[in-house]
Amino acid sequence: MESLPDNARVTIIGGGVIGCSVAYHLAKLGWKDVVLLEQGKIAGGTTWHAAGMVGQLRTSNSLTKINKYSVELYKKLYEETQTSIDWNQCGSLILGTSEDRMIQLKRTAAMAKVFGVEANLISPSECSEKWHGMYSDDILGGVWLPDDGKVDPEKLAISLAKGAKKYGANIIENIHVSKILKKDNRVNGVETNQGQITSEWTILCGGMWARQLGMDIDIDIPLYPVEHHYVLSEPIEGISPNFPCTRDPNEMIYLRSEVDGRVRLGGFQKRSKPWAINRIPDDFSFKLLEEDWDYFRQPLEAGKKRIPQLQNCKIPEFVNGPESFTPDNNFIMGVPPNT
Ligand SMILES: Cc1cc2nc3c(=O)[nH]c(=O)nc-3n(C[C@H](O)[C@H](O)[C@H](O)COP(=O)(O)OP(=O)(O)OC[C@H]3O[C@@H](n4cnc5c(N)ncnc54)[C@H](O)[C@@H]3O)c2cc1C
Repeated sequence: MESLPDNARVTIIGGGVIGCSVAYHLAKLGWKDVVLLEQGKIAGGTTWHAAGMVGQLRTSNSLTKINKYSVELYKKLYEETQTSIDWNQCGSLILGTSEDRMIQLKRTAAMAKVFGVEANLISPSECSEKWHGMYSDDILGGVWLPDDGKVDPEKLAISLAKGAKKYGANIIENIHVSKILKKDNRVNGVETNQGQITSEWTILCGGMWARQLGMDIDIDIPLYPVEHHYVLSEPIEGISPNFPCTRDPNEMIYLRSEVDGRVRLGGFQKRSKPWAINRIPDDFSFKLLEEDWDYFRQPLEAGKKRIPQLQNCKIPEFVNGPESFTPDNNFIMGVPPNT
């Protein structure tokens, strides 16, 4: 087991996909003394149960650049780490089922072109060719993004952590950061259940836990967890792993096909269920919340309509994992204003 050094140039709090990516990139850029602290195991927070759909298009050019870069990295990460992340460039498809949605999709396609992401408006029949067997009578068109894809998010975090180690980063698991330390209004390290570490830089990658760590030192990080639900069907004949990651925004559902022919159906209900808003347990690692089939009724019905095979198959798995969202759905990055 790695022991905690007294000093580091950078201390990263959290070993989800973000913390592992930060460690990987800094170490690869040649930064020495990069230390990552994870209270459980790598990927055990939110990352392991994510649906793993990788879309490049965001609402601004700079955020889109980050996601485009991610795709380029995922294509070749295996060569560097010899750990597969199951990258599949299956493309993604956004369905339009109303005139208003089609206006928005046309804008989406135009914006994608400005940001350098290939996005094509396609006809209803082309949509149902992409996901063969999809119900398409109500589809007016869609946007097809051929360079998007999917990964196994847990493997991705592990692969990045392996890469970080290869370039010299120190990854320590099962260590809990209890407090961020400040001196002269500057963060200068952290206190853990195994002692203190001082560092020039401290990077908080604590995902949904970030808010509570920030609160202790008057840094306001607006991240609140809500329940996020998806289900997995049994394997279905004719479902190809190469079907695109598909979003049906009017019904607020998404679909992903799996290697063994299962269908993953996720939903964003109009009213999300908040979870643990006062304090998130430190030991919530590789854990899920209770199934809630009742709350998932609308997405399930919408999914069964879109993919008729779902009507006659078993749906044995319900995943209820908490996920935190920012108020404007953008990333929170940078030095906090009052530090
Ligand atoms: C059901 C579901 C489906 C999703 N689908 C997609 C998708 O298709 N595409 C997509 O891009 N995103 C998706 N997401 C979102 C994605 O999972 C998250 O954006 C991503 O995993 C966040 O990574 P993270 O590293 O910020 O957080 P986490 O993975 O939660 O990592 C934070 C880590 O910090 C550690 N930590 C916290 N506090 C401390 C402390 N005090 N000391 C030490 N360690 C600490 C935690 O243990 C945890 O491991 C989905 C999420 C869910 C829940």
